[in-house]
Amino acid sequence: MAKSVHPMCEVKVDSAWQRVTAVEAHAHHRSAPKRCPECHGVVLTASNYTQPIQIRLSHRKAHDGCPLLPNRFRGVRSPHPQAMV
Ligand SMILES: [Zn+2]
Repeated sequence: MAKSVHPMCEVKVDSAWQRVTAVEAHAHHRSAPKRCPECHGVVLTASNYTQPIQIRLSHRKAHDGCPLLPNRFRGVRSPHPQAMV
């Protein structure tokens, strides 16, 4: 199965969620609300300030029903308890 190289997240622009890469979210939507495309929990972007710049996505609150958190995921997808809608 193909795995995307760039982590994706969703940003709220004009009251609609748009799926963008973490790099784009960090560069162009820094103050917009961001959520995980899988569980819809709040995510934060962080740069490592190296070249080329890499953006890491992290859930503000970890959740064991999200497959994007391999260390926490328990095998059954479920929405984040504090999902953003
Ligand atoms: Zn998630």
